[in-house]
Parts: sequence; C-alpha cells; structure tokens
Amino acid sequence: MDCLFCEIIKGNIPAELVYEDEKVIAFKDINPAAPHHVLFIPREHYNNINSASKKDGLMESVFKAIDTYTSDNEIFKDGYRSVINTGKCAMQTVEHLHVHVIAGRDLAWPPG
Ligand code: 5GP
Ligand code: ZN
Repeated sequence: MDCLFCEIIKGNIPAELVYEDEKVIAFKDINPAAPHHVLFIPREHYNNINSASKKDGLMESVFKAIDTYTSDNEIFKDGYRSVINTGKCAMQTVEHLHVHVIAGRDLAWPPG
C-alpha cells in the first residue's frame, strides 16, 4: 500500500481538495489547528523537505501553489503560517512532504 497522501492523490482516500495543478494538490487537514488549515503536497512522493529539495523546481512549484492559493483568497489577507515538520522531534506523522498553511486566528509564537 502507498502512503496515505499518495492514496489521497489517487482518489482512493477522500479529502476536501481546495487547489490542484499539474504538480501540486492541496486539501483540508482532517484535524485543523485553526479555522483554515490546508496541506500542500507535491503529486510526486518525497518523504520530507530534504529529499524534495533535491528535485529541481519541486519546492518552487509547491510554494508557487501556496502563493496562488493565498493571493486569490480573502481569508489570508491578514497573513498565514506555513509549517513543514521534519522527523520525529518535529512530530512529522505523514512521510510525504507537506506544507501546512494555517490561518483564521491569531497564531502564537514560538509554536509548541
Ligand atoms: P505532520 O504531523 O506530518 O506535519 O502533519 C500531518 C497532517 O496530516 C496532520 O495535521 C493530520 O491532521 C493530517 N492528516 C492525517 N491523516 C489525514 C487524512 O486522512 N486526511 C487529511 N485530510 N488529513 C490528514
Ligand atoms: Zn506519498
């Protein structure tokens, strides 16, 4: 069996898609940390930011998708937080590179 997010990409596991292009999709997080919590993922599987960054242009595609989505959406006019958890101590639970995009409330800093 493929990874959870690869199954979402294939449509085998349902998710609420909010954005898609040739290289990237985004969907609502099942357990939102704020009123708006979306995960941006490359369609191609990479375990984390380190392996994804070795593929030329891949992270650029992910961040361009985030730019398009947030620029087009009034929800993000006051800002948002983008988070990439990597490995155990950062509590990465799904090993398919994903960028959390979180908005809709005041966000504390530093994060927990
Ligand atoms: P991580 O902890 O790896 O940075 O983030 C994984 C995220 O995936 C979590 O915020 C979690 O709520 C979300 N998630 C886990 N399983 C599913 C699922 O089946 N569907 C969706 N939409 N989100 C999921
Ligand atoms: Zn995957």
